Amino acid sequence: MSDAQTLNMSMPQPDIPASFHIMAKPSGARCNLSCRYCFFLKKDRLYPDTPWRMTDEVLESYIRQTIEGQRVPHATIAWQGGEPTLMGIDFFRRAIELENKYRRPGMRIENTLQTNGILLDDEWCRFLKEHDFLVGLSLDGPREMHDAYRVDKAGRPTFDKVMHAARLLQDHQVEFNILATVHAKNGDHPLKVYRFFRDELGARYLQFIPIVERDNDTGFQEGSAVTDRSVGAQQYGHFLVDMFDEWVRRDVGEMFVLNFDGPLANWLGSPSTCIFSPVCGEGMALERNGDLYSCDHFVEPRYFLGNIMETPMVEILASHKQQQFGRAKRDSLPRYCRECEVLFVCNGECPKNRFLMTPDGEPGLNYLCEGYKMFFKHVDRPMRLMAQLLRTGRQASEVMRFYAQEDRTLRESCAHMGRNEPCPCGSGKKVKHCHGTAS
Ligand code: SF4
Ligand code: SF4
Repeated sequence: MSDAQTLNMSMPQPDIPASFHIMAKPSGARCNLSCRYCFFLKKDRLYPDTPWRMTDEVLESYIRQTIEGQRVPHATIAWQGGEPTLMGIDFFRRAIELENKYRRPGMRIENTLQTNGILLDDEWCRFLKEHDFLVGLSLDGPREMHDAYRVDKAGRPTFDKVMHAARLLQDHQVEFNILATVHAKNGDHPLKVYRFFRDELGARYLQFIPIVERDNDTGFQEGSAVTDRSVGAQQYGHFLVDMFDEWVRRDVGEMFVLNFDGPLANWLGSPSTCIFSPVCGEGMALERNGDLYSCDHFVEPRYFLGNIMETPMVEILASHKQQQFGRAKRDSLPRYCRECEVLFVCNGECPKNRFLMTPDGEPGLNYLCEGYKMFFKHVDRPMRLMAQLLRTGRQASEVMRFYAQEDRTLRESCAHMGRNEPCPCGSGKKVKHCHGTAS
């Protein structure tokens, strides 16, 4: 195969976004763990009997085309898996060498690496620090919640190893965020999970991903049954609500939770995460042989777009098929969503989760709808307030003063009420379980 030709960037390219990023999977679906809910392990079946490592030829093409395709002075090189650290440090040293080779003067290049942390050691951490990698570490909360599903090939727990990795990253001052999944086993414990990350781990950047795992043998986005490991829609809604209520009272500006920052961008009028944007399609997934797919969640034959060793990456990105994929997020919304009061922030969330029927029998409703509706309605007032603060050049964290004042007033009112009366804050809880408590 010959390397792809570089597109002449001086020509107008109306369908090519100014910036984009590709999630590269240099080791394909290969992983040193067997997390029970992992949707990616089965993807190995797409490439039977082929080498699992990305070759130097594909690596160079990926880096060169990603850098050359940006019409902005920065680029993100994203490493994902499977488990990318299986490639060894020398693979990433070579990646840095290639980034330096193709970097335009003044261009900032950021590397992100999503890892389960098992292989991280001092040498890895020194490397990640030296090259300013932003690391995403997968950890699902306290020991029993993490070990419920995140196990190694022999089914053994991994909590201690991941905590060791987190401490190493901290010791070496590597910037990292926690990527936690929300599933059947931790979904009822939002505060335990959140406080564990904040108080025991000392993490400041969090992202929560709901596990919605289709129950089928293909590993593709097919069928409407979910496994019993999946989080429930209401359960997820409560998880977000309870965590938000703690965060908005004490941690705004200190803890950064993507599940709150993402929607806040919608309240500000410019969505920043693909799942809450009206259209998507700018985050394609790259397999180790150069094959590109529409998205990390759609590495399936139907969503295969082309190979970057044969067709320039930007041409694939601008292809009718990928453009249509991105627009389908908006164009396939059922009427129930189009008329929804929180459409401006939800936008039907990710198409991979849209496999329910609406109450009026139209297909395409998001499995998490009930939870999102509950969450977005609950946070509407503080989100408006924070958006207003930011628009006027103030800090979103000022919202905490508002809550402190309001909570004081409510506690005073509760002092004169019966313990079993409904709390006047409107939470639906009894006074004794809400603003009637001492704190
Ligand atoms: S399919 Fe989902 S995860 Fe993929 S780009 Fe679209 S919204 Fe994002
Ligand atoms: S909350 Fe439900 S109805 Fe509203 S846009 Fe989201 S998925 Fe659609």
